[in-house]
Amino acid sequence: MHVTGRVLTVKKVGAYRHLTVAAPGIAERFRPGNFVAVSIGDLVPRAHLARRSLWITGVKPTGAHGATVEMVVEATGVGTQWLAELSQDDQLEMTGPLGRPFALPKESVTCLLVGEGYAAGMLFPLAERLRERSCVVTMLLGAADEPHLLGALDARRSARSVSVVTGDGSVGLRGTLADALPDLLASTGADVVYGAGSIPTLHAVAAAAEQHGAWSQVAVQVAQPCGTGLCQGCPLPVVGEDGVGRLVRACADGPVIRGDRVRWNELVTP
Ligand SMILES: Cc1cc2nc3c(=O)[nH]c(=O)nc-3n(C[C@H](O)[C@H](O)[C@H](O)COP(=O)(O)OP(=O)(O)OC[C@H]3O[C@@H](n4cnc5c(N)ncnc54)[C@H](O)[C@@H]3O)c2cc1C
Repeated sequence: MHVTGRVLTVKKVGAYRHLTVAAPGIAERFRPGNFVAVSIGDLVPRAHLARRSLWITGVKPTGAHGATVEMVVEATGVGTQWLAELSQDDQLEMTGPLGRPFALPKESVTCLLVGEGYAAGMLFPLAERLRERSCVVTMLLGAADEPHLLGALDARRSARSVSVVTGDGSVGLRGTLADALPDLLASTGADVVYGAGSIPTLHAVAAAAEQHGAWSQVAVQVAQPCGTGLCQGCPLPVVGEDGVGRLVRACADGPVIRGDRVRWNELVTP
């Protein structure tokens, strides 16, 4: 769906901006793992035409303002800076929900959800669905430092147990998600690992899960110009079910994909 959304609230959350946008049509069709592609205002100097992708971190299908979607923005460039400066009642051109969502287990399995930085936000709707299916949910959240750590408090409501790591040790253990994974996989006995974050972290998630004998599903972020599969501008190197290497579109054939299918060493990190 392409909709003109209306910004309802903007909140500062650590290093990020949390946006709630009235976007009828998108919220109702959302499944955990989906994202939206947003257009950047015409008047922004030096903003290229490519739409910017943002994970959907929450939806409310009904409410005083109709259906709403939530997103978290980290200002890293022209487009995300513009998004971070949006105010209440501003309009936002959005297309969504886009992308292949997480596959949900049919049985009540033990799940480890690993989220890095702002990307951790997109795991919360997944945690809710998993809990509805009586899955045991553990969350491992990480970031470089406290301002970039997202959702550590909310996670205590969404998961049976929560572990936190930061690069500078300002919250939780000092270290990286990759450091913390092996012990947590062993102590939880996770059957499935879900990951969201940078390419090196997702690579570590996929490798650790495989070593532990667990399935992994990861939400990859490959720079993608259109987000809908049309432009073919987001090649993701994978090994197909037939064992043959090929390129798929990260936006439409992903962004959620089995970790053991990605040819990680051939992925260019943004
Ligand atoms: C599926 C998906 C979901 C995403 N979800 C979020 C989110 O929830 N919140 C958020 O803040 N950001 C998210 N991103 C990243 C965001 O889309 C990019 O940071 C944004 O497009 C950069 O645009 P810019 O104009 O601000 O910066 P630019 O000036 O274009 O680039 C700034 C930096 O971002 C990198 N970058 C550019 N495009 C992308 C891209 N498509 N993906 C990853 N890095 C990119 C560049 O290499 C550069 O380092 C997501 C990306 C994808 C692919």
